[in-house]
Amino acid sequence: MTANSTFLDAMRTAAVAAGDARGFRFYANPTESAFASYARLDRQARADAAALAALGHAPGEVAVLAFEPGLEFIRALYATFYAGLVAAPVPVAATRQPDVALRRLEAIIADSGSRLILADPTALRSLGLEPSGTLAGADLVPITALEGVVDDWTAPPITPDSLAILQYTSGSTGVPKGVMVSHGNLVANEAAIAGAVGITGESRTMGWLPHYHDMGLIGQLLQPVSVAADSVLTSPSQFLRRPLLWLRLITQHRSTHTVGPDFAYALCTRLVTDEQVGELDLSSLEGVITGAEPVRADTLAAFAGRFGPAGFRARAFIPAYGMAETTLLVTASVREGAVSTVEADSAAIERGELVPASIGRRPVELVSCGPPAGGHEVVIVDPRSGERATAGSIGEILVRGPSVAQGYWKRPDATAETFAATIPGDPDGRRYLRTGDLGVLVDGELVITGRLKDLIIIRGRNLYPQDLEGMAAGLLHSGCLSAAFEGTVAQPLVGLVAEVDTARVSPDDLGDLAERVRRSVAEEFQLPELGVALIRKGTLPRTTSGKVQRSLTRSLLADDRLATVLTLGFERAGAR
Ligand code: ATP
Ligand code: MG
Repeated sequence: MTANSTFLDAMRTAAVAAGDARGFRFYANPTESAFASYARLDRQARADAAALAALGHAPGEVAVLAFEPGLEFIRALYATFYAGLVAAPVPVAATRQPDVALRRLEAIIADSGSRLILADPTALRSLGLEPSGTLAGADLVPITALEGVVDDWTAPPITPDSLAILQYTSGSTGVPKGVMVSHGNLVANEAAIAGAVGITGESRTMGWLPHYHDMGLIGQLLQPVSVAADSVLTSPSQFLRRPLLWLRLITQHRSTHTVGPDFAYALCTRLVTDEQVGELDLSSLEGVITGAEPVRADTLAAFAGRFGPAGFRARAFIPAYGMAETTLLVTASVREGAVSTVEADSAAIERGELVPASIGRRPVELVSCGPPAGGHEVVIVDPRSGERATAGSIGEILVRGPSVAQGYWKRPDATAETFAATIPGDPDGRRYLRTGDLGVLVDGELVITGRLKDLIIIRGRNLYPQDLEGMAAGLLHSGCLSAAFEGTVAQPLVGLVAEVDTARVSPDDLGDLAERVRRSVAEEFQLPELGVALIRKGTLPRTTSGKVQRSLTRSLLADDRLATVLTLGFERAGAR
């Protein structure tokens, strides 16, 4: 396939390469699906873009896309690109509280300065909006209302430097920010993914991830377009209702590639029965990407063990690291054998060093996320001095290369802070993206240890919240999450908020459960003070992409705004 310089070129190339033979098949439920070929998407997009131009929307404008998962969203994304507009997808159904989704939509309209909201009628209904009119000063246009003529379309004057997507980050550590992804970034990152993971026009991809999140949009939806591969999709809600559907559709369509976060693999391992495993055939899978959150060695081993009898090969797993600020992918670990892991000494990790686990010490098994993909450079620096870290030292991950985005929309300060790091003594003054993540390079491969902002620093030790949460998980009911965070002067040194299934534990036993969690986590991590709060299952704050929001949890707890059923050790704070 010829090299495309913008993603619009990629869409046009896919239509020529695949015609009506390949495209997207979307399952609204386990049995009903609809198909849109690349050629049909191309024809529709020319007509839709002509209609948008006739409505006065000019290249460079931001179009907010408010859609339920499905082919209508893909149609809108195509229309946006063919009109030279910048796509800003927003979640509408991720939360059962429409007012939360509506407020987020209004915030994004205000932040992006958009004058156009493209939407589908179902999304509008679930947001409680009329199918026309305006919202926060932007015109609401149902995609089905566009009536353009294919031949009226003229290609917009876009270049690799033109913006393609305004990707709002998940908001795991703060307020979501709009990342400016250019066409050049998008083309570069899709090529990096295809190259690293081995996706070609012959591949068959399958996924259910949210379409407004970077991994869903870039990794699952636009990736197949970039190589004109066949794609099968379903929605996050269908997946969550019955995780087995994911594996059934892979079986049915002989899918070669799929992608998901660690929790999804753990969920399948836990919920799929022996009998159901017997009905699956996962032998077609060549690349199974796991990323967006910490990749756990035990999750991968358990999944491979559970689904080995269905033909799943452990070497298909591809641990990957990326973020919205780098369009998506930075590193990926593709190998002949099982994933590569490092057994590290936990006490050394607390000091910021990676050394092999020593006998008698609690080892931590870390999964390698592989070398940088697609011409990217990864450097580890000391987060305090900004100097290059010495070999084996854990530090902040900096990234440079063609997928690093153009900055945060209308936030020059945050952009300068994050996108323009330099390394002291670098004669060329090269600029790097500060990822805010901690990691270490081992033989050129990146091992992620956690997030700088979430790190719990007590008495010179660096504790990673996910380690404490992992310990707590063994004592909690299945499906219950927890969040660990550093305390404040007034509070215990470390706090842990854990979900509890109140239907499965009597009120009299709650105290025992909290005490057990507190004792085992405190002993394991030698914490003199640990506050534990139990809250109702399903109420721990998380992003629309499902990530736990630790600092938000901490402040909501302090304000007494969590669905708390019991607290232990927080009393001293007076904040219960
Ligand atoms: P916000 O920036 O708004 O706080 P976010 O960082 O969760 O939200 P995303 O861009 O969706 O937004 O996620 C990228 C982040 O996810 C990375 O910076 C990293 O912290 C985490 N992540 C991604 N891949 C991995 C991985 N393989 N292992 C551990 N963490 C990962
Ligand atoms: Mg981030």
